[in-house]
Amino acid sequence: RSARSNSKHLFSRAKAVFPDGTTRATVEKDPVPVYVQRGEGAYLVDADGNRLLDLNNNFTTLIHGHAFAPVNEAVVDLLRRGTCFANPTEHEIALAELLTARIPAIERIRFVNSGTEAVMFAIKAARAFTGRPGVARIEGAYHGAYDWAEAGQAISPGKHGWETTPIATPTYRGTPTSVAEDVHLLRFNDVEGLVKRLSAMSERIACVLIDPMPSRAGLIHPEPAFLEALSATARKYGILIVADEVLNLRQGYAGASMRYGVKPDLIAAGKIIGGGFPIGAIGGREGVMRVFGAEDTMPLLPQGGTFSANPVSMVAGRAAMEAMTPEAFDRLEGMGERLRRGLKASIVRRDAPFSVTGAASLFRIHPKRVTPVEYRDAHLDATEALLMRKMTRHFLEQGILLPYGAAACLSTAMVDNEIDLILRAFDDFLDAESQS
Ligand code: PMP
Repeated sequence: RSARSNSKHLFSRAKAVFPDGTTRATVEKDPVPVYVQRGEGAYLVDADGNRLLDLNNNFTTLIHGHAFAPVNEAVVDLLRRGTCFANPTEHEIALAELLTARIPAIERIRFVNSGTEAVMFAIKAARAFTGRPGVARIEGAYHGAYDWAEAGQAISPGKHGWETTPIATPTYRGTPTSVAEDVHLLRFNDVEGLVKRLSAMSERIACVLIDPMPSRAGLIHPEPAFLEALSATARKYGILIVADEVLNLRQGYAGASMRYGVKPDLIAAGKIIGGGFPIGAIGGREGVMRVFGAEDTMPLLPQGGTFSANPVSMVAGRAAMEAMTPEAFDRLEGMGERLRRGLKASIVRRDAPFSVTGAASLFRIHPKRVTPVEYRDAHLDATEALLMRKMTRHFLEQGILLPYGAAACLSTAMVDNEIDLILRAFDDFLDAESQS
């Protein structure tokens, strides 16, 4: 029996019912998906009984790893009393109070069920507030599946290389071309391009959608000058700043915008705030959030949703977030720093063609000698993609699930031992590479 025979069998069943054998395009299948039997803290046990250190944590959602006891207890307790109602519950108020108390830019909040929905409603809110249709966003960044958030996410060089000024095209065949007319692409850390683009199109732009460290675009540190120019230019033209913190809220107690000095008008959140259950949230300035309604006015943007603020996600999120004290964030950050420093030291020792980006509990290893400063630098050519594939395969053989071409993350279920495992696996990989 091969190490993955049960996964192979499950994949053959899955191919008969799902279009490509999966229900998410993001499932890694090299050559078959690793089917999961259960999760235990920092580890997964796959369908064949292999124990794997999970550096994906459901795309950075599980900040406490799997089956975190306080979340389980809160959810089990709730299940006995009903899981969803058309009526509001105290649970939604409690999670809202926690988030508004921690994150200064969130004065008012609305809950939805995914990051996609959170970004979509944040864009719609910015449009309703400004009366303008357009969105400016970073080329290569991922913001979920709303058409206007999506255009520009999968851009690659053309026949003659990269366009100096990136132009949005509808991401998928058949998308109305009008979508791309209202999406304005910016290059990350390109101050001049940003100022030029925003000022030229200002009358049509409702918001700049900015993830301060876009993961798919390379998990690259923002230059302070870039974020300053973004804020100043947006303010000058009455363009709202929408921070997509769906992934990066995990960078600190008060989130990523606070960490990097951005003052957003709206924040889209998700992932960790649901404690492992589906969630999204739109938060922001009271004055802007009034588009969703105020006691004395009709909403400009009515937003509902059958499962919005469902009590399961609310109590799970609250249990997970309550455990994320400032000390818990500090411990995660310390482990993250030790890990990134160790990875970089391995690279330097061998003068290997790799680099490392990330912050707090997040990291990404690039098969690139020069540390990327924008999406284009992080974009892989065919040779680099092969090397990346080789690396993730090596990690898997060592019992570590390292996401391919995306942010990897730590969880509070990990201790120094897990950091050592990752460092050793990377060292072994570089050794093998230097001998091949
Ligand atoms: N924005 C960012 C920055 C994300 O990382 C993601 C999910 N990876 C989304 C939006 C979409 O969130 P969801 O998958 O919950 O719809």
